[in-house]
Amino acid sequence: MIIIMKSGTTREHVADLSTWLEKFNVQAKPIFGADTIVVGLVGDTASVDKDALLRDPQVENIIKVQEPFKLANRKFHPDDTVVTIGDSVKIGGNKVVVMAGPCSVESHDQIVDVARHVKAEGATVLRGGAWKPRSSPYSFQGLKAEGLDLLHEASMDTGLPVVTEITNPAHIDLFMEKCDCFQVGARNMQNFELLKELGQTRKPVLLKRGFANTIEEFLMSAEYLMAGGNNNVILCERGIRTYETYTRNTLDISAVPVLKRLSHLPVVVDPSHAAGIYWMVEPLAMSAIAAGADGLIIEVHNDPAHAMSDGAQSLTYHSFAETMGKLRSIAAAVGKEI
Ligand code: PEP
Ligand code: MN
Repeated sequence: MIIIMKSGTTREHVADLSTWLEKFNVQAKPIFGADTIVVGLVGDTASVDKDALLRDPQVENIIKVQEPFKLANRKFHPDDTVVTIGDSVKIGGNKVVVMAGPCSVESHDQIVDVARHVKAEGATVLRGGAWKPRSSPYSFQGLKAEGLDLLHEASMDTGLPVVTEITNPAHIDLFMEKCDCFQVGARNMQNFELLKELGQTRKPVLLKRGFANTIEEFLMSAEYLMAGGNNNVILCERGIRTYETYTRNTLDISAVPVLKRLSHLPVVVDPSHAAGIYWMVEPLAMSAIAAGADGLIIEVHNDPAHAMSDGAQSLTYHSFAETMGKLRSIAAAVGKEI
């Protein structure tokens, strides 16, 4: 951190400030220029009281030079983290993991049928929402606990581990039993109480980026999970809100290389919620693998036209099979496999 002092600040003031900063176990290194005085801080500045600093009438500005995330930071953990979902699906290594399934779990027959089809095409994790955070209270809210049971049955039938969204810390015990990976949805990325509770578990968490959150905020949410001791965090870019209205969201493809550079955590892309429409899912999924994503989460439905949620963006079995073929070629081109 660098503190820029107002012109005319006295040396005594800088000395008093330096003494005060020692309380935070950092060393202050002032540099006196012709017109400007800057104070460089050496050490871990995470605990420095920035508000108090900005209230010092002689402080012009402060500039952060260190990222505020530590446990999620590649600087302190240079090797890629590999997260294991279920018994054996490894994400963050040389294999691109495809998670697929419907937006919502709708019935036993539906989820088992979708699970069998996506497995046959090479998906290794089943997705499906049981608690659905919908924009309207009048929209289908999910089958809730029954949906979780149905997902579990589909998992038993196919052997696919399950990822499903948790919206409430009170449900953690239930999810611990019935799923293999928690999903934290875009709307809950900064639900810090939920993150703290999930941080106390050791089950993997697929953390989705909020649609109006910066990459730094996203990594600070990962930090919440990791600060509790849960290192099994998977980051998911799912599109952000921009001025563009043609797509449901704007897939921030640049977030993939940025996240891979800043963090050691695996990165997954959700092309379905970014696109909002089925025909765009394949090119976005291809671009994600080309950009270095470790996995994809894709909505696939047995009958998209009659889906209880997100039918427009869901792939049919046929289009999912075609897309998987193309994704294999892209993966091979970047030295990976699916
Ligand atoms: C979902 O995966 O079905 C979902 C609701 O995603 P998001 O939180 O990214 O909107
Ligand atoms: Mn959905």
